[in-house]
Amino acid sequence: MCKSTSEFRRPVEGGDRRNKRDTLVVGGGISGMTAALEAAEFGKQVILVENPPSLGGRVSQLYRYFPKLCHSTCGMEINLKRMRQQSNLNLLTMTEVTDVQGDAGNYSVTLKTHPRYVNENCTNCGDCADVVEAEFDDEYNYGMSKRKGAYTANEMAHPQRYVLDPAIIGTDDATKA
Ligand code: SF4
Repeated sequence: MCKSTSEFRRPVEGGDRRNKRDTLVVGGGISGMTAALEAAEFGKQVILVENPPSLGGRVSQLYRYFPKLCHSTCGMEINLKRMRQQSNLNLLTMTEVTDVQGDAGNYSVTLKTHPRYVNENCTNCGDCADVVEAEFDDEYNYGMSKRKGAYTANEMAHPQRYVLDPAIIGTDDATKA
């Protein structure tokens, strides 16, 4: 269910245009995280858009990853530490691109943010998952296990906030959560 739509618009300005553009990175897997961090650490204002509730993508689901065959948890932790220290980076999870207008360097992008049903006061305590009864196939584990209707993808999920499955909204489970 989609509840809100937001728009990211950054027309080209005069002067030194290269340093005044915002940078939009679509996709919050480890490559998108790294691209967003590199740009933010260089001084760009960066918006990182990710469709799932948390960052990491496919690499976060793997035991090790190319090219150095590091553990994915190690690569994720390094990037998440950099991200927590980075004020130039604005992260939008549960968000998808629905439209792009314009050309390179002068464009507008329409984003649609899906509701998490949990606000920023979440402490990641997990109590909601304990009381919710509904279970669903766990996407993070390729459907080989179940997760609750109130869940977080994994122990390293960032942002550290639970999400309610839209399927429990309007049910007793949502009230208990
Ligand atoms: S939403 Fe769930 S995990 Fe977050 S503070 Fe509330 S009970 Fe705890």
